[in-house]
Amino acid sequence: MKLIPSKFIWMNGRFVPWDEARIHVLTHGLHYGSAVFEGIRAYATPGGPAVFALDAHVSRFYQSCRVVDLPLRHEPGELREAILETVRRNGHDACYIRPVAFRGYGSLGVWPEECDVEVAIATFPWQAYMGPDAVEKGVDVGVSSWRRMAPDTLPAMAKVAGNYVNSQLVVVEARRHGYQEGLVLDVEGFVSEGSGQNVFLVQGGRLHTPPIGASILAGVTRACVLQLAADLGLSAVQMRIPREMLYAADELFLTGTAVEITPIKSVDRRSVGDGRRGPITRSVQQRFFGIVRGEVEDQHGWLTRV
Ligand code: PMP
Repeated sequence: MKLIPSKFIWMNGRFVPWDEARIHVLTHGLHYGSAVFEGIRAYATPGGPAVFALDAHVSRFYQSCRVVDLPLRHEPGELREAILETVRRNGHDACYIRPVAFRGYGSLGVWPEECDVEVAIATFPWQAYMGPDAVEKGVDVGVSSWRRMAPDTLPAMAKVAGNYVNSQLVVVEARRHGYQEGLVLDVEGFVSEGSGQNVFLVQGGRLHTPPIGASILAGVTRACVLQLAADLGLSAVQMRIPREMLYAADELFLTGTAVEITPIKSVDRRSVGDGRRGPITRSVQQRFFGIVRGEVEDQHGWLTRV
């Protein structure tokens, strides 16, 4: 999935042409991972493009920045507007939105405070993250030999660039072993999440997902799925999940802005249920895709018209 350029990128308060959104090679964030980002989607609806869960993403962006001491010059309201304006100016029907804040050029000590914080927002078209069939047919995953970071090492709850070295190790190993994704255990050996997705398990008609304390990123899609489960009258619990529950599960699925809701058809080459998308995964997906496409009433106000 190569990047397809758009016309403009918002950079530190102004729009610049895509090819001119450049930074110096001695940018602090490049050397030390001192950057925070978000991943957001805008969907095509009958009323025009609409951004999904914009406020939740903007507030997580600011929370991540607070965690790693990245003070932003722009207020959340300003950033929110800039996101909408970037989608508008680039004329997308649907797109992926990538806000990023980082320590810029200034000094090259690890101590970051001589480096100004820069912010950018890019938007570009993005198709299904795991290919066109994945949402229906599911993906094969393997439990990673890597672990998520221990709680006192890196801030798992903050969407900080440096954390994604862990994600890269996980996804590269998974692909090398012939899986589409890896599932990662936390430092105590309980299920945490995928390289860039949260995970849900269905057992006996009930949904289960690891809690915040299992080294996960608190996914926006995860929160929406918990709400959708309640709307559908399904019970959903956040609990520590031992690895063996993966092998006994009736259904498993991944959630995230990129993967949306993608069924898992096998774990470590053991098929999940009968290896096909299960009925609960399907009903949560139907409701989710109905809302984001503007076909089902958006009763929680998740869509922001561009
Ligand atoms: N975990 C990680 C590590 C992620 O990078 C993502 C993607 N942002 C998720 C979970 C899913 O989060 P969301 O639903 O907010 O996209």
